Amino acid sequence: MTKINKVIKTHTSTRNACKLCAPLGASMVLKGIEQAMPILHGSQGCATYIRRYVIGHFREPFDIASSSFTEETTVFGGGENLMRAIENIITQYNPEIIGIATTCLAETIGEDIQLHLAALAGKKADLPTIVHVSTPSYKGTHMDGFFAAVKTLVRKFAVKGTRINKVAVFPGMLSPQDYRYIKQMLFDFQLPSVVIPDFSDTLDGGSWQDYQKIPPGGTAIDDLKDCGRCCGAIEFGLSISEDQSSAEYLSKSYGMPSYKMPIPIGIENSDEFFSTLCTISGHPVPDKYSMARMRLIDAYVDGHKYAAGKSVALYGEEDLVCALASFMSEIGMTVSVCISGCKPESLRKAMEKRVPAVAASARILEDADFEDLLNAIEESPVDLIIGNSKGYTVSRKLSVPLVRVGFPIHDRLGAQRFSLVGYEGTTELFDRIINAIIEKKQESSDIGYLTW
Ligand code: SF4
Repeated sequence: MTKINKVIKTHTSTRNACKLCAPLGASMVLKGIEQAMPILHGSQGCATYIRRYVIGHFREPFDIASSSFTEETTVFGGGENLMRAIENIITQYNPEIIGIATTCLAETIGEDIQLHLAALAGKKADLPTIVHVSTPSYKGTHMDGFFAAVKTLVRKFAVKGTRINKVAVFPGMLSPQDYRYIKQMLFDFQLPSVVIPDFSDTLDGGSWQDYQKIPPGGTAIDDLKDCGRCCGAIEFGLSISEDQSSAEYLSKSYGMPSYKMPIPIGIENSDEFFSTLCTISGHPVPDKYSMARMRLIDAYVDGHKYAAGKSVALYGEEDLVCALASFMSEIGMTVSVCISGCKPESLRKAMEKRVPAVAASARILEDADFEDLLNAIEESPVDLIIGNSKGYTVSRKLSVPLVRVGFPIHDRLGAQRFSLVGYEGTTELFDRIINAIIEKKQESSDIGYLTW
């Protein structure tokens, strides 16, 4: 019998969206650039909402300026507010870069940011570099804001010149721990890297005696400039359109080879990443990673009896869901439901490229919310749910364990240190998945403790 790969919506409004707002993605990128400061052109509530999510996840301070729209600015335009906000930021933070993300409201009333910036430049000399990212959230997700901000910075700073032995890496929205690990992997291939963005220190720093207005760390401006001279560009994400892709932009404008690949979660995806590093560097895989791969396979052998045949629902950013789907099929789990708040066809196309069999059999729902997730799992029950903390209510209601992956994770400690990528990150995730399955089985057993 042919399975109908579709979920019928029972409601028209969005209930608890399975996405976050576009300026949030742009703000996170700016937090990963050295001495940069984000400003939201719009109402204070937007900045507060973003701060609340990011601080809850990273447990670090997260300053975002706001041009504080009022009823008046909403009607007559917020140019004056924006200029005053920029002046205040310069006085208080003295950043090297200011990144403006325009909120839904500013986009709706059609704010002309370039006009306001020209007026400011006429009034004030010695301004820091100011970039503007258009981030109307009603047209996209936090990942659209994220990719747009990265590309804006690359376009602004990259310069042409003699090729250098550096690789530009666009990892997307991963944890600081994953960022550190990606840099380590490239270093071990003797490949210096320019990781954009890099909030491995700025959003997972130490404990300071004095408050750091702009925490140290992030991609340096000189590194952003080097982007145009790199010997290759690696980008994680099969859903990223040509229009959004910084790696493709560098390849077209600066002539370097670009490698677009899935987030390296699971053996197959990680192998692709390592084989790319071998190609670019001309070096074989260092022994420590071959050993890590062997340990991961050993973990699969140990855990396969718990995972095999179990069904799973995945939700979150489309590239994360796609990479997880590939990993799930690798460990013998059945991907029943895949949900993202992304644009239609974005997740499906990425999955068709990477996991065509899963794309053909799973229920894929895009532009979806958590009501859709609940309905889909009620129709096709699963043994496990994997996604961020926002799915907790669904997990609790249906008594299905939730393994927390992605952003935001605000009801557990350590989200900034959770690893997903490479053989080591996959091993950590695999253990968490298997332990969640074992815990559920123990809890529903009459005798509790089980020895398998
Ligand atoms: S109004 Fe738009 S920009 Fe502001 S928080 Fe909501 S989605 Fe984000």
